[in-house]
Amino acid sequence: MIKKLLIILIAVVSASVVFAQKVQSPDEFLGYKLGDQFTPHYRIVDYFKYIAQASKNVKLQQFGTTNEGRPLLAMFIASDENIGRLEEIRHNNLRLAGIESGGAAIANAPVITWLSYNVHGNEPASSEAAMWTLFDLVDPANSTTKTWLKNSVVVIDPCLNPDGRDRYVHFYNSVRGAVPDANPTAREHVEPWPGGRINHYYFDLNRDWAWQAQKETQARVGLFNQWLPEVHVDYHEQGYNAPYYFAPAAEPYHKDITQWQRDFQVTIGKNNAKYFDQNGWMYFTKQEFDLLYPSYGDTYPLYNGSIGMTYEQGGISAGLAVLTRSGDTLTFAQRIAHHHSTGLSTIEITSANAQKLLDEFKKFYNNSRTNPPGEYKTYVIKNDNNNNINALAKMLGRNGIQYGFGLANKSIIGYDYFTGKTEQYSVGPNDMVINAYQSKVVLLHVLLEPKTFIADSNTYDITAWALPYAYGLRAYGVKASLKPANTNQSITKAQQPVNNHAYAYVANWQSVNDVRFLAALLKKHIKVRYSEKPFEAAGKKFAAGSLLIARASNDVPNFDQVVTQIAAQLDETLVPLASGFVDKGSDLGSDVIRYIREPRVMLMAGEGVNAEAMGEVWHLFEQQLGYPITLVKYQDLGRTHLSDFDVVIFPDGHYDDFPSDKLQSWIKDGGKLIALDNAVAELADQKGFALKKKEEKKDDKADAKDKETVKIYGDRDRDAIRSMIPGAIFKLNLDNTHPLGFGLPNYYYSLKLNDDIYELLSNDDGWNVGTIKKNSLVSGFAGAQSKLKINNGLLLGVQSIGRGSVIYMVDDPLFRSFWENGKLLFSNAVFMVGQ
Ligand SMILES: [Zn+2]
Repeated sequence: MIKKLLIILIAVVSASVVFAQKVQSPDEFLGYKLGDQFTPHYRIVDYFKYIAQASKNVKLQQFGTTNEGRPLLAMFIASDENIGRLEEIRHNNLRLAGIESGGAAIANAPVITWLSYNVHGNEPASSEAAMWTLFDLVDPANSTTKTWLKNSVVVIDPCLNPDGRDRYVHFYNSVRGAVPDANPTAREHVEPWPGGRINHYYFDLNRDWAWQAQKETQARVGLFNQWLPEVHVDYHEQGYNAPYYFAPAAEPYHKDITQWQRDFQVTIGKNNAKYFDQNGWMYFTKQEFDLLYPSYGDTYPLYNGSIGMTYEQGGISAGLAVLTRSGDTLTFAQRIAHHHSTGLSTIEITSANAQKLLDEFKKFYNNSRTNPPGEYKTYVIKNDNNNNINALAKMLGRNGIQYGFGLANKSIIGYDYFTGKTEQYSVGPNDMVINAYQSKVVLLHVLLEPKTFIADSNTYDITAWALPYAYGLRAYGVKASLKPANTNQSITKAQQPVNNHAYAYVANWQSVNDVRFLAALLKKHIKVRYSEKPFEAAGKKFAAGSLLIARASNDVPNFDQVVTQIAAQLDETLVPLASGFVDKGSDLGSDVIRYIREPRVMLMAGEGVNAEAMGEVWHLFEQQLGYPITLVKYQDLGRTHLSDFDVVIFPDGHYDDFPSDKLQSWIKDGGKLIALDNAVAELADQKGFALKKKEEKKDDKADAKDKETVKIYGDRDRDAIRSMIPGAIFKLNLDNTHPLGFGLPNYYYSLKLNDDIYELLSNDDGWNVGTIKKNSLVSGFAGAQSKLKINNGLLLGVQSIGRGSVIYMVDDPLFRSFWENGKLLFSNAVFMVGQ
């Protein structure tokens, strides 16, 4: 007994000895002063691990891993009293939001402040500031921060984009001289392609919060939604000539952002300003960074009841020192100091208003559940496409949005997103039903409202994203509050039929999942065909594009087993056919049944190519379809054997010295070129490519008015808006009898990011698959001049050249990887066209 007590005593004493020791600052730990050099990510991780050992007031959690294998970390910092009850605090906070039910509120619940650093890899000052801020919070000698922690839990994510950060840091460290060169034209201030801003797949992680296309975002937002902090800061850097930016944000604000959220941005901003004033540092607020697009690190938290903010230090490409326009030398150390200051200032003002923040957080969620924003209290999404519904369900689920299926009352009156009519509709048992009376309704409303309310069109980003258009699913907004009949959040699926001697198997072609299935078959060298026309067999109707996997020419052992296994793994429904003699349409041996060659695909990469656009294609192939793709630098195209490839993809970009002759002869021999976005514009100027840019229609009235009016210098931003499309949804007419339109209805909602439009191709030249008529704007903002321009033209076309083809896709169908239907459209270009 005494021995046992002694052991306990020793344990207690030694623990207190360990913790009473001085905690090393980042400078002491790293062996250099913060700002003297860039800290590689693994050393930041080391410091966080060291603090996790050295301080009893922290808990370090690895919540994920990047594509390149680096850890994603969150450090929780709390008082002696709170650090042992973090789980209790978390559950309590979710109860405040009504996301978890039951249980009395805990006494002295702390407010949660979450600081997110370095989401853009080449904005590196903030991760260094993260170490400093962490040190101040755990330093036993710091009594000020101890006071704040009495009623605060602070969460520090030191680096949201470790792969991007290291790309930048390795670049800089590998080219810097013995002394940093402040001359802005020096090599160390010019990052090579693709730059460190983006993650491994070249995605901008600060455009991905709601969509969660990337694994870093999935992991982080997963953790975020388990906590729902009351305050969230997203740390950035901007061009180095700009002074520091912090809240309050610029207009437009989404109308669902509450007065309290607006007001507290001002409170925080004023506290930050206090320290900047004391130090004589320059800053600005209320400009440039607006609050609309839902996938930012400020708006996403705002739509989740938090005070979400972006802080921006001037510093992109600034290296360790750079000469600014005003003749000052901006150093890395200064940039770090500013971010450190706003971090502490934010924790301070949050702590000073802790109870009010908690009360308002609770109120935000109470209001959500009792008085949801928007006209519609129920959203019904038709299950015309089971895989797309599943994809949508997954996305909603990741955001904590509740949904179910079917209605007791099978008939509704609702607003039809696709026709704009309010009529009576019937609801089936597998149609998705989302009731607005729920905690996450603000986010739900922002993602689902048919038209985003825009107070001022001068926004930083796209102005339309309503999910029914992105997923191509018919949807209705219903004013009555209706509850789903089945709240299981899953659709009951029919059992896979077992058949050991099918003549052929048929699978649908209408979703990314179907493409993934095709990719898996092709990788196993199983021969797949598609039907160019609809047909009926085995008592079922099959649309054009349906996949046929016939026993014929698939002389592989265990053919049935292999095919059904792949289908089962990918949750793909197969229909076995006993005979090639179909009930209606063409038999399986007919020439409308086309054989799908296993395409060898090349993607243009490198200087001149829009890295994000390229990354969308790369990610789709590797992570979503699981199909091989070869990335070739555009500069190396001249010495590449094109005959090794069947498909070459040109993403958005600028292509100087385009090797037109080489590509033309490869296409004539059967090659397929896919051009996207600005690559289409580049091809339109080249010999042999038939596409012609549409001449701009002159608005005579506006022109005359322009001539009469003296241009006002102060209005120049507003004038530029007339010819702007920051991202709006347009409806295209789609020829879905053409393979490029397979699996889609005879229309397609396209997210337009510019006002590019082309003349229709002549019948000799090719096919006008996606065309646009007058008044096709469905949702979002388009300037008056642009609206005039975008009518009667081509947005999706296929030109035949010899045995090959060129596919023109004027808008980027893979933009940020959230336009689900765009992925099918693009896959049609890769796998279906020209077979
Ligand atoms: Zn940034």
